[in-house]
Order: sequence, then structure tokens, then C-alpha cells
Amino acid sequence: MAMSFSASAEFALTDGEVLSSTRNDAFSFWKLPEDWRSELKSQIDSSETVAQTYLLEQYLDDCERRPPKLMRAYYPFKRLIPREVRYYLNSLVIRSRSKRSFPHWPCESELIDFWRTWLSRSLEAVGVKDGWHIGFWPGGAKCSIVLTHDVESPMGFDRMKRMADLEESYGFRSAWNLPLAQYPIDWKVVEELRSRGFEFGAHGLCHDGRLFRNRKIFDELAPTIERIAAEHDMRGFRAPSTLRRAEWIASMAFDHDSSFSDTDPYEPQAGGTCSIFPFFLQNMIELPYTLAQDHTLIEVLKRDPLPVWVTKAHWIASLGGMVLALTHPDYIGASPYLEKYEELLKHLQAIENSWRALPSEVSAWWRARAKLQLETGGNEPHIFRTDGNRSAAAAKPMRLSEEPLAR
Ligand SMILES: [Zn+2]
Repeated sequence: MAMSFSASAEFALTDGEVLSSTRNDAFSFWKLPEDWRSELKSQIDSSETVAQTYLLEQYLDDCERRPPKLMRAYYPFKRLIPREVRYYLNSLVIRSRSKRSFPHWPCESELIDFWRTWLSRSLEAVGVKDGWHIGFWPGGAKCSIVLTHDVESPMGFDRMKRMADLEESYGFRSAWNLPLAQYPIDWKVVEELRSRGFEFGAHGLCHDGRLFRNRKIFDELAPTIERIAAEHDMRGFRAPSTLRRAEWIASMAFDHDSSFSDTDPYEPQAGGTCSIFPFFLQNMIELPYTLAQDHTLIEVLKRDPLPVWVTKAHWIASLGGMVLALTHPDYIGASPYLEKYEELLKHLQAIENSWRALPSEVSAWWRARAKLQLETGGNEPHIFRTDGNRSAAAAKPMRLSEEPLAR
């Protein structure tokens, strides 16, 4: 794929501007021994420019990294169009788009290839065949599994409990993102699910397509979203309809965001970060969703979601990445799709040595890992922990030769 590596001004990263623990360069991604850092300095600096091009979707034209203009005409009339007609129009628009060759769907490996090539060149530069890094996941887990849902309607809200029961029966907990002004929220139900280990995030105010339309509207709406979310202790965000502007999301008062995909050509704002790992969106942690959305598969593509989910989940697990599902109780919270979801849970449960985590836990882990330092001066690799963070305690040095992504 041909791409230009022009870093956008808003994200130009220079030393001192951004904390070294919030970077997306290849050294920070792999968490290699500090003893190697000075020798690799120039490769480290240039790797961040390349990585950000993918992670911030800078391979897209500027106008494609924001909600499409056509959406403005659509949203005011959205409520007047019957649901079936809306789905038909959506799929027509999506299918009529010129077929993009990048990012590939449902699996895109270009950024993975970049991480891998960068590592092998760096090992060569340091003059070793193998080495250590800090494992991608706590306790030496092979991959992570995160379940998230956006709850679009009172019907979806009523179906949460049944889906939660199902997830619990397979040993999972999940995160539910609620639009904060779209329908009345029964906070007692939220508290009850929280007490069982589930978590809640903010899904904007409503699906009116306005939040990222222009700076004035964003400056009006964002504080309201932040205030309601803070009142209800919601620390994660996902933009309605995943319409997004990276630099504005990064400025919001949330711990983590999940409005980006690794690859999703089927959303109103197509694109993808090509990342099956968390990364830093400035000081926020971005957790891209990496399994295709239920709505896309069922309503737009008219496909059985299960084979796509399972194939992708195994592909991610084989690379040691993060399987992050985005489903809606509104679409799959009842038969016949709830059975498909149960099948997915069975497949995910069978993935060995995986870390089943909530978005807030993955975020805490990725932040903690970023602050750790690996030293290999003596005989054994040693992780320096600068604070007593609980997440950091589970970090483990791993041999690069045993890391699937390094091979
Ligand atoms: Zn939504």
C-alpha cells in the first residue's frame, strides 16, 4: 500500500511534549530492555511516525477522518424513516462506496508486519538473535478477550440482564456503553450489574450525528457527556455510531475510548487503526474493537456472524492480540442471534491462557506496563517497578522467540 507519512500537526510528538510512558513507538510497544534504548534511538523515533499513521488513521484524507458530510442531511430525518428502509439505505450506501483495498477486512496485518519487521531489524542492530521483552498481557497470558456492548434502546436495556447471565455462565464479564440522553436509564439496574462485576461506559448523549460535526457543537456537548459520565462513575467512552475525530476524543475527560476499530469499512465513517493491541490516544488509552459488529454482519452484510467472529478471534489469539467484541443487545439479545452469541462465548472460553478483562482493566494494565522498565544486565531479566501499581505486579518478562508476534 502506498502511503504518505505526514504526521498531523495536532499529533506532532516531540520530546518533552508527551510523557515517555504514553508513546506508541515500537520500543514502547515491545517493551524491550532499556540497555538497548540508546543504540536504537533513531529507529525508535521513526517508528512512532509510522505507527501513528495507522493508529490515528492518517493514511486517510483529512476529510475522511471526521464524520462524512452526507450524515448531516441524513440524521435530521433518521427518525422519520422506517427501520427496515434505514437498514436498506445504509447497506446501499456502504456497498456503493468504491471498494477500498486498505485496510483489509476482516483481518488487516500491515501494522503487525511493521512491528515484526522493526523488531527483527532491531535485534540485528543490537547483534542478538533473541532477547526479552515485557509480555503484552499480565501473568504471561497469550492474548486478551474483552466484551463490550452499546445499548441503543429501552428494548436493548431490558435485554442486558439476560445477556449478562449468559456471559457470567461462561466466566465472562462485559462493559455496557449507554447513550446518556437517548432514553431513560434505570440506574438501579446499572448498579445491580456493577455489583456482579460488569462495568458501564458512556455512549455519547444520543445518535444524532452531532458530537463531532464541528468544534462549536463539540465544545457544547462534550462537557455535558463528561459531567453525566462522572456523576455515574463511567470512565470509558465510545462515540455514537463510532463517528470520531481522534484529537477531540483524546481531549475528553475519560480514561479510555473504544470508538476506533482495527478495520471497519462498513461504519458510516469507514477506516481502522490496524491495531489489535491497545495504544495511547495522547493520555487516553484506545481499545479498538477488533471483532466485526453484529449489526454490520447481520443487517448490512446479511451474513451469519459466527464464522466471521470465530475466524477473527482465532487469528487475533494466534498473534497474541486483543479480541474486543462490540455487540448490541438490541440486535443479538434475543433468539435466534443470542444463540450465535452463546456460540461465540463458547469459542472464546476455549481459547487457552487468555486474559478475560474489562476495558478499565486493560486500560490500567497498558498504562502500568508502559511505566515499567526491563533490565537484562545481569543473568536474569528484571522488571523495575517504579510504583506499587497492582496491575504492574502481574507483568512478566517473556522471551521474544516465544512470542508469536515476533516470529
Ligand atoms: Zn450506538
